[in-house]
This record gives sequence, C-alpha cells and structure tokens, in this order.
Amino acid sequence: MSIQTNLENIKSNLPENVTLVAVSKTKAVSDLMQAYEAGQRIFGENKIQEMTDKWEQMPKDIQWHMIGHVQTNKVKYMAPFVSLIHGVDSLKLLQEINKQAQKNDRVINCLLQIYIANEDTKFGLDEEELENLLNSEEFGNLKNIRIVGLMGMASFTDNQEQIQQEFKHLKAIYDSLKAYKIENCQINTLSMGMSGDYKVAIDCGSNMIRLGSSIFGER
Ligand SMILES: *Cc1c(COP(=O)(O)O)cnc(C)c1O
Repeated sequence: MSIQTNLENIKSNLPENVTLVAVSKTKAVSDLMQAYEAGQRIFGENKIQEMTDKWEQMPKDIQWHMIGHVQTNKVKYMAPFVSLIHGVDSLKLLQEINKQAQKNDRVINCLLQIYIANEDTKFGLDEEELENLLNSEEFGNLKNIRIVGLMGMASFTDNQEQIQQEFKHLKAIYDSLKAYKIENCQINTLSMGMSGDYKVAIDCGSNMIRLGSSIFGER
C-alpha cells in the first residue's frame, strides 16, 4: 500500500485529540515527501544528524520531533529548529538543551521520558528520579526549556495486558504531573504508542502517537 493510503487509513480512525508523529528514521526524503504531500507536517527522527539533513532539504513548515536518545554534545545541531524533544531523561541534558535554546533565542519544548517497560534496554526516568528532577532548584532556573509532558515505551511483548498496564501506569504519572505549578512546566502531551501498540495506548489516554512502519513500511 502507498504511504498516502496508509496515512489516510490511520488518520480516519484517530480520535481528534490525538497527534500523529510520522516516524521517518532511515527513510529517504522522497518517502517523507509523499507523506508531506498527503498533508503530514510532523515527522519524528531518532538521529540528530539525519534529522538535520532532512530539515535542510525539506519544506520549512514541517515540525521536527527528536524521538531518540539524545547525546548532549549534539544538541546544538538541532537547537535552531527542533520543535519537540521526546527523550529527555536527565537534568544534565535539560541544562544543555536550555543553553543551546538560549543561544538561539528560543524556548524548546521537551517531554521527559519515563521508564515503564519491564526491560533493561529502555531509557528513562523512574518516578523518584522524575520527582527529584522537578523539585530541584536547578530545574526551576531553566528558562529556555518547557516541559510539556511525558513519553514512554511499553515492553516489546505480545502480552496485551502487560502493555496496557504499563501505559496506564504512565498515564497515572502524567495526571499527577498536572499538579506541578512550575513556570517551565505546561503539561498537555502524553506521547505513547507505536505501530504495534498505538490503539491500546490511545485507549489508555495517549494524545500523541509515534508511527513508523505502519506508515512507511518495514525498515
Ligand atoms: C522507531 C520508533 C518508533 C516507531 O516505531 P514503529 O514500530 O515503526 O511504529 C516510535 N518511537 C520511537 C522512540 C522509535 O524509536
């Protein structure tokens, strides 16, 4: 099926409040342009270099989301244009994003990545680390970042119940975050759900899904 048809099928079944991020990592600019021509304006990449290359080549009304693990020394390359960074999991990284945002005279929106999976390989903060981060004085001083919500990845498993439990757990943390009245937190985005599990994620309260293979085909 074509990229355009895939997008149309997915979008026709999405609730209105759910934002679709087209995950285009490893795909050619010509593939991304097909999605663009079908109306897609939000793209997700997991490597800063690749995202920057594509940003240079593609129309400037695209919103670029960094969904991968971010290396501190590469933040500067995306700071001029990135619209949302999903995978923030340390104060050190936030401080670097803040510094580079300041240089570009911007406020950069970020999601904190929370560890919800029952696996060793996924990045993210646990609840205690999240709380410590938000309550730290250093965090309160960061004026060029804005935390707009959370991101998480469920375990890679066929066990639907487990996936559902993990997503519900993240939704509960997300709801509790809304109580934080900190200037640089404006909580409105819960990024959870990929091609294999996005329907469960939406049922559990996701309002941003990150779909790659179901739009562009297998990588
Ligand atoms: C690759 C990736 C996706 C998309 O995965 P699909 O299974 O192709 O939909 C979503 N989120 C993150 C963080 C990814 O790295």
